Amino acid sequence: MAIESDVLVIGGGLAGLSAAIAAAREGAHVRLVSYKQSTLKQASGLVDVLGYVDGEPVADPFERMADLPDDHPYRIVGESGVREALALFDEVTDYRGGHTDRNALVPTHGGTVKPTARYPASAAPGLASDDRDALLVGFETLVDFDAPLAADHIEAAGVPFAADGATVRFPGDLRADAKVTRYAHLLDEDRAVETDGGRRLPAREALAERVRPHLDGHERVGFPAVLGDDDPAGVRAALSKGLGADVFEVPMGPPSLPGLRLADRLYEALDEAGASVETGVPVVDYEGEERVERVLVDRKGAEVPYAADQYVLATGGLVGKGVESDREGVREPVFDCRVPQPADRYDWFEDAVFGDHAFARFGVDPDGELRPTDERGDPEFENVRAAGSVLGGHDFPAEKSGAGVSLATGRAAGVLATEEL
Ligand SMILES: Cc1cc2nc3c(=O)[nH]c(=O)nc-3n(C[C@H](O)[C@H](O)[C@H](O)COP(=O)(O)OP(=O)(O)OC[C@H]3O[C@@H](n4cnc5c(N)ncnc54)[C@H](O)[C@@H]3O)c2cc1C
Repeated sequence: MAIESDVLVIGGGLAGLSAAIAAAREGAHVRLVSYKQSTLKQASGLVDVLGYVDGEPVADPFERMADLPDDHPYRIVGESGVREALALFDEVTDYRGGHTDRNALVPTHGGTVKPTARYPASAAPGLASDDRDALLVGFETLVDFDAPLAADHIEAAGVPFAADGATVRFPGDLRADAKVTRYAHLLDEDRAVETDGGRRLPAREALAERVRPHLDGHERVGFPAVLGDDDPAGVRAALSKGLGADVFEVPMGPPSLPGLRLADRLYEALDEAGASVETGVPVVDYEGEERVERVLVDRKGAEVPYAADQYVLATGGLVGKGVESDREGVREPVFDCRVPQPADRYDWFEDAVFGDHAFARFGVDPDGELRPTDERGDPEFENVRAAGSVLGGHDFPAEKSGAGVSLATGRAAGVLATEEL
């Protein structure tokens, strides 16, 4: 007997979560199956909708959507589809940015300033549009963030404030290869740690004490995004009080705590919407011709059938393994949907590193209802929709559109699936 649901969502990244939450809130019986952790573990946790078009920064993503190519996922779901997905996102998270259509400018750990549509509450006091001088604080053991260098770069980017950087020893003296979660848990638990002169202080107080001598009148202080996993708001509040300055987090490279916090919040929202979730279980095959009748899920070596009326394919791009490439070409491995690609591998890349590479846009080619299509432009299956970075037609690193495309196409695929029930 197959495990049954109305809508089966394959993939537990932003696209799959958005699809599953939307479909469950429409009243469908939804099941989400996912293999591994999603790219949220690597991503910054920022929700970029459209940061650049043709290499130029974008102030208002909605104003520029009409300039995107016809096959871009935003052209398929339309401006209203993007807005509705962001409204759903705003409802289930405490992210900021929903008060305006304009991109916010968020400082990143490399010292760049990134145009983004939604940002975690922890990044809010760090915005580059704020003219208060900022102190950036790095830790000796966290080599990915060189605070003085990042401060120089941010100033060079032309922000309307002075930025300074300081590097301190993290209390508790973690090793250079300690996981970011160790920093976060030390601050969450606020355990007593040894600090200067052999004294013991609660971790938050000890950290504030180490930063205070560098404060020099700065009204806001940015730390790498390790300020708590279970209680980030509490950690920030305690540090703000201890320093007498607004404290913010600077998004970091992988592994990303803000990305993991966002994943946790969206899984909670999925649970609240009444959907079922199974993780660690890859979909390995399917049965059906014009319609997918069932998929086969690998559960500890056994292939278990899962049947649904409607399916959403949200397995990610080249990073998530929703699109695979080898010497033969590029393929979508679950349903073997067509992935358009130049016949000659030399046409996959441009010579310039930051050129307009064809491979960056690889993915399945959807119709107006997000169903992957064959060479003739007909849907591969009546009841399969694709969402997120498994879709072609967009270049998320160049456009800074990754999370936005996943949320918008995910929500649209979830709603379209329920309309067919
Ligand atoms: C390093 C990095 C930094 C980024 N930074 C940003 C940023 O700052 N801002 C931004 O907006 N975007 C950013 N992005 C892009 C953004 O994170 C992605 O575009 C978006 O998260 C993709 O979501 P997705 O759901 O489509 O795919 P993924 O997040 O890749 O999720 C796919 C899911 O499908 C599962 N899966 C795959 N195959 C199967 C199968 N056969 N069966 C079951 N499950 C399967 C995977 O295990 C995974 O859980 C970044 C991406 C990377 C890699």
